[in-house]
This record gives sequence, C-alpha cells and structure tokens, in this order.
Amino acid sequence: MTLEELNQSLRDCQACRLASGRTQVVFGTGNPHASIMFVGEAPGLNEDKQGVPFVGAAGKVLSKLLESVGLSRDEIYIANVVKCRPPDNRNPQTDEIETCKPFLLQQIQIIKPKLVCSLGNFAMQTLLGKKIGITKVRGQVFQLPEFILFPLLHPAAALHQGNLMAPLREDFQKLKKILDEMTNEPEHSSPVQDKPVQMDLF
Ligand code: SF4
Repeated sequence: MTLEELNQSLRDCQACRLASGRTQVVFGTGNPHASIMFVGEAPGLNEDKQGVPFVGAAGKVLSKLLESVGLSRDEIYIANVVKCRPPDNRNPQTDEIETCKPFLLQQIQIIKPKLVCSLGNFAMQTLLGKKIGITKVRGQVFQLPEFILFPLLHPAAALHQGNLMAPLREDFQKLKKILDEMTNEPEHSSPVQDKPVQMDLF
C-alpha cells in the first residue's frame, strides 16, 4: 500500500469516537520518502479546519525549531498519534490511541524513516510502549527495531510553560548532532554514538 492509498482509506474512518467531532481526518504531511519523521499528539482546532498537522501556534514553534537545525518542513514528514481532533482539545484516550495506532505504524512502515522524533508524552509512550514521563526520557536516543526514536517535549507544552522552551531548544541541538552523524555515517551503520536502548516495536 502507498501512503496516498492509506490516506484515502482513512478519509471516512469511523473506527473510534473521535470521528463524530472532526471536520476531517488529519492524515499527515511532508516528504513521503523522508528519513526524519515527527509524530505529535492529535489535531487541534486549526489542524482540524485545514487538514494539516502543526499549523497553529505550536506549529509555528516547531517550524522555528526545525529552521534552527537546518530542516524545512518539505524534507520531513509530520503526523499525529490520532488523526482526528479530540473534542475541546482534550487528551486522546487510551482506546482512541490504540485504535488509531496501527495507522501511524503503517505510515512509518511505508515511509521508512531512519529517525522518528516524538513530540510530547503520548507520541513517545505510543512508540516506546512504556508509560514513562516525557521529562524522564526527552533528549535520549532509543534504538528500536525499525528506526531510532528521539523523544522531544511537545512544542505546545513549551508554549504554555515557558520554562520548557530551553530544554526543547537544547534537545533540538542534540537532534542536529544526530542528523550530522546520520549524514556522515557509512551505509548500514548506526548513527548513534550514545548507548542505544534496544526495544521491540512491531
Ligand atoms: S482518530 Fe484514527 S481511528 Fe479514530 S476515527 Fe480518526 S482516523 Fe479513525
């Protein structure tokens, strides 16, 4: 299946209760062959209206952080753990995440990124399969069977709690180092210098 076929197959998805309140499914955006993917939590008001992830205030923060490490949105892929907006921007519930998670994993399997940057608790916990707080694992590198996971704070959290902006910026600088190592690495070798954590995902 191609990414576009998966996108089309979800246009009218009714698999969880979030279908009833959405304007549209927010599938994802960016380069379908990206080696770096960012995964957020869920669409908000603006994303639901426009059908594109990270277009609101948090999206602007993300764009600036990407620019700070020389990345543009065109070269990465961005998606969310759940593809439909939770009512009143509440957190996605466990059963909603479990229902939508296979679509995220399918996106990852099709795109085949080398590096996935999760944004916030929900994306990190979904991909790592562990109920750990993001502040405990942010900025660490996890070698999963299919890709490297690099958990980051959510830009929206940094917007609302100013003290989180500095650690988020700091982690983007670590990301820059990982990207530089990925660029310079010989084919098939690990770009990670830190001791990776081996975990099963798929
Ligand atoms: S959130 Fe995911 S599983 Fe639920 S309706 Fe939307 S696309 Fe389907």
